[in-house]
Amino acid sequence: MRRPGDAILQRIGTERGLSRLRRSGSMGRKLGQHFLRSAAVLDGIVAAAQPGVGEAVLEIGPGMGALTERLLARGARLVAVELDPALIAALTDRWSDHPRLRIVQADILKLDLSPARLFGADAPYAIVANLPYYLSTPLLFRLAACRGHFSRLILMVQAEVAERIAAAPEAGKRYGSLSIAIQHAFAVRLLQRVPPSAFRPPPKVHSAVIELKPRPLVLTAAEEARFFEHVKGLFTRRRKLMASGLRAAAARLPPARWTAVQTLIGNRRAEDLTPEEHLQVFRALECAQGGP
Ligand code: SAM
Repeated sequence: MRRPGDAILQRIGTERGLSRLRRSGSMGRKLGQHFLRSAAVLDGIVAAAQPGVGEAVLEIGPGMGALTERLLARGARLVAVELDPALIAALTDRWSDHPRLRIVQADILKLDLSPARLFGADAPYAIVANLPYYLSTPLLFRLAACRGHFSRLILMVQAEVAERIAAAPEAGKRYGSLSIAIQHAFAVRLLQRVPPSAFRPPPKVHSAVIELKPRPLVLTAAEEARFFEHVKGLFTRRRKLMASGLRAAAARLPPARWTAVQTLIGNRRAEDLTPEEHLQVFRALECAQGGP
C-alpha cells in the first residue's frame, strides 16, 4: 500500500520532488541536505557497515530514507534521528509501523547517546550516517567523548575533513589537531571518495566515506579534553619547535621531568610527532605537573 510519505521520498531523484519537499517546509540547505542518489555508494556504505540481523544501529540524519531502507532490509534494529520536521513527517508516514525502526526527531548534538537510552540495552551499537557538513567536526568530538557506546562508525563526510582525520605527519598541512584527536579516539580508515554527482542537490565539494573503530579510553574524560586542548594549542604555532613552544610549561616543571619531555620531542615541531608521541608528551607534562 502506498502511503503519503512515499510520494515525497520516492521523487527525491527529481527536481520536482526536491521542490515539493521544500514547499512542505523542509529546512533544506540550512541542515546540509544533500541526499544520496547513487545506489552503488549507498550499497557500499551498508556493505561497509555490515549490520547483522537484529543488530542495533543508529542512523544520523536519515533524510529521505535511502540508507534507512537498506539498513532495514539487512535486518538492523534501527533508531533514526532527524532534525527536519518535514522529513520526520514523510518518514513517519512511510514507516510509522515498522517493528525494527524508531524515528526520533532531535538534534543529534543534544541527544543522550547511551545504548540504554536509545536501544534499551547496554551493548555497543553501530552508527551509519551521511553527515551534513556543518555538523561533522563538532559531532566527531562529541562521538569521541562517548566512544564506549559504539562498536563502529561508517560516516560520509566532506573529503577534505576525511583526509585531515586520516592524515599522518607526512601528509603536511592536512595533519593537525583534528587528525591527532580523532586518531587518538578511533582507528581510522578512509574507504571511498565520492563525487558531488552522487548527491542531489550536488554539493560543491567531494565527499568520502570513513570507518572509525573506537579505541579504548586511556585517559579520563577530563584529561582527554585537556589533551585535545593542548594539541590544538601546539598547532596554532605548528612551525615552531616544540621545545620553544613548551617553554612556559617547562618553567613550571622539575628539571628532570623537563629533560624527559625534551628527550621525547627532540628537535621537532608539533607537525612531526605522531598521535602516540603527542600523547606521551602530554602524559609527561601532566605527570610532571601533578608529580613530585
Ligand atoms: N541520509 C540521507 C541521505 O544519505 O540521503 C540524508 C543525508 S543529508 C547529507 C543530512 C541529513 O541530516 C538531513 O536529512 C538533515 O536534515 C539531517 N540533519 C541535519 N542536522 C541534523 C542534526 N543536528 N540532528 C539530526 N539530523 C540532522
